[in-house]
Amino acid sequence: MLKTTITGSLPKPSWLAQPEVLWAPWAHKDIRKLEEAKQDAVRIAINDQEKAGIDIVSDGEQSRQHFVHGILEKIGGIDFEHKERIGIRDNRYQADCPTVVSSIYRSSPIHKDEVAFARKQTKHDLKFTMPGPMTIVDTLADNHYRDRPSLAMAFADILNMEAKEIEAAGANVIQFDEPAFNVYLNSVPTWGLDALNRAVDGLSCKTAVHICYGYGIKANLDWKATLGKVWNQYKIILPELACCEIDQVSLEFAGSRVPIELLALLSNKKDVLFGAIDVTKLEIETPEEVAAIIRHATKYLSPERIFPCTNCGMVPLPRSVANDKLKALSQGAKIVRSEL
Ligand code: ZN
Repeated sequence: MLKTTITGSLPKPSWLAQPEVLWAPWAHKDIRKLEEAKQDAVRIAINDQEKAGIDIVSDGEQSRQHFVHGILEKIGGIDFEHKERIGIRDNRYQADCPTVVSSIYRSSPIHKDEVAFARKQTKHDLKFTMPGPMTIVDTLADNHYRDRPSLAMAFADILNMEAKEIEAAGANVIQFDEPAFNVYLNSVPTWGLDALNRAVDGLSCKTAVHICYGYGIKANLDWKATLGKVWNQYKIILPELACCEIDQVSLEFAGSRVPIELLALLSNKKDVLFGAIDVTKLEIETPEEVAAIIRHATKYLSPERIFPCTNCGMVPLPRSVANDKLKALSQGAKIVRSEL
């Protein structure tokens, strides 16, 4: 009970990529050196999680430059050479995005080998993350489909092929990251969930969706400041998610203004990867602070449904901070477990 896990990403070592930035440039141009550095970083990321006491581990997303563009680089029909600067997440910030120029297709497996490698490094349950269809569509310039639902469905088919191979390679949990769900609330029931359901069709491993308020970068902090005293985005989307095909929902609570009682909207039908670690601040939570927020969650959700987790990815944080936060997470969960 109260098995701990992380959202997905961990900071990269400086010998792999420039630390503490998003879209960080790789430290190696030579492809062989880069592959070797990625694999070494995965070994360390898994080892750090195990040492910290995390139950369900990930590869720390060490092999991808960005959580969306990492997979898009391998998909046909997308021009990566000519990036367009566009406003993403409803114009919250500008990003240089690749362009969809023709029908998209996958010519070969993308993540299968990475998962097989990570699988060999641990006996723990392994989680693997990919961006969800709506978030992909929102992180691209589209000069071909010119219709977001159609493009999302096309990506969902590709993600589903990937997911089936990732499951076969040994992942126990496959998570789709959908921060865009928290932005385009009205599109979640009209096409966001249809695309997500299509992405998980036919899988027998656990499936998860991660919906958050983003990393602690300035654009996100500025956006959060406009959201008022109570953040009620989950109030609109959780009743919809309660009825979807996904097993687990990863949500942000620590240090946020999300009312914890909104968990009741899931009607105890889903596991919750419960965000008990704030990734936007450098201070390390105490185990007691972590325990207190997990205890609060048990009022609205049975403990077997709660998986203490980080609020979001930790890639922009210093490595020592991320490591100490992992330890606080597992120690806090241990306190509450001993009380049940
Ligand atoms: Zn997130």
